[in-house]
Amino acid sequence: MTFQELKELDSRYVIQTYGRNPIAIDHGQGATLYDVEGKEYIDFASGIGVLSVGTAHPRWQAAIAAQAARLGHISNLYYSEPYIRLAQQLCTRSGMAAAFFASGGGEANEGMIKLARKYSFDRYGEGRGTVLTLRNSFHGRTITTLAATGQDVFHNYFFPFTEGFRYAAANDLDSLNEVAGHDVCAVLVELVQGEGGVLPLERDYVQELARLCAQRDWLLLVDEVQTGVGRTGSLFCFQQYGITPDVVSFAKGIAGGLPMSGILVNEKCRGVLTPGTHATTFGGNPVCAAAALAVLDILDEDAIARVKEKGAWLREQIEALNLPCLGRTRGMGLMIGVEVADGFSNKELCARLNQAGLLCLTAGAGLRLLPPLTITREEMEKGLAVMKAELS
Ligand SMILES: *Cc1c(COP(=O)(O)O)cnc(C)c1O
Repeated sequence: MTFQELKELDSRYVIQTYGRNPIAIDHGQGATLYDVEGKEYIDFASGIGVLSVGTAHPRWQAAIAAQAARLGHISNLYYSEPYIRLAQQLCTRSGMAAAFFASGGGEANEGMIKLARKYSFDRYGEGRGTVLTLRNSFHGRTITTLAATGQDVFHNYFFPFTEGFRYAAANDLDSLNEVAGHDVCAVLVELVQGEGGVLPLERDYVQELARLCAQRDWLLLVDEVQTGVGRTGSLFCFQQYGITPDVVSFAKGIAGGLPMSGILVNEKCRGVLTPGTHATTFGGNPVCAAAALAVLDILDEDAIARVKEKGAWLREQIEALNLPCLGRTRGMGLMIGVEVADGFSNKELCARLNQAGLLCLTAGAGLRLLPPLTITREEMEKGLAVMKAELS
């Protein structure tokens, strides 16, 4: 089908919840994609940070095909090898104690919030179910994770929202103490706020926050849906902050494009969720777990170390272009925010880059780049060339 035919059918049969680019991607390889008319695009978006090992990686494909031919699904009423090996790998490489698997980021965060409330209920009884989150955060689109999200624009239409969330300013312990109280069970943060604008939290703040949480027996919940799986230059971002969360969630990049998410808990929290208290039909699906095992295999320590180098190089090159519409860059690893200069619209610049053959994203008031972690120097150079030609 041509792009026009696809667009017409989409508008007739699909609920129009997304502001889409007028582009229909058909296939690709690595960080190079092609639309239905054969036009080439360089991928600085990875879906939204999902295609951690690029498009159609041969080992990822082979793992999925082999598992699909063996066993495509089995319920959690039975054991199966892929999710068990995946849990072992994730715990071994992160230092966490145990895993629970789900399908999407919002769902993983819901599990984390449920766990925190039950941990507190088991120890202290009712009345201690409040979770503190940070302003400008993003934690998902379910009613509860919208409530957890510290941005008023998300608190609309869908009333009543789940109660029990209060918001503090990022990097400000006084602000956190002001909204704290005897009803608090946990603090939930993104270490690099993603949707909010690629804003890394300060290291000192995060370490003090971890101490405060330990003192008050608040659980420290880290939402690594976007920052996890190598994106920031370590398997999990918390590993660079010198802290260990009580619970950490992951999703986007874990299975390289298949829907999978989960949480990892420390030793203290492994016994909180018990039979009957939490479940999900697709959790630990064997094909998704096999894809995730392939992703972790491809993203070995070497590959993840290169993420830092690639990110540093890409930021340097973008700043060296000296484009009048762009400002400084920030971020960690291959999670990069680019400031947009006064008088320019990030949405407009992003749309123009997409149209010109460079897929990218916005976040906050800037541009956001989340290339596949396996992107090559040549692909980055091609992407930079599009940026230079289109935005000069
Ligand atoms: C994308 C994202 C989510 C939501 O994930 P879904 O898979 O869309 O439910 C939650 N938290 C963060 C930090 C995210 O980036």
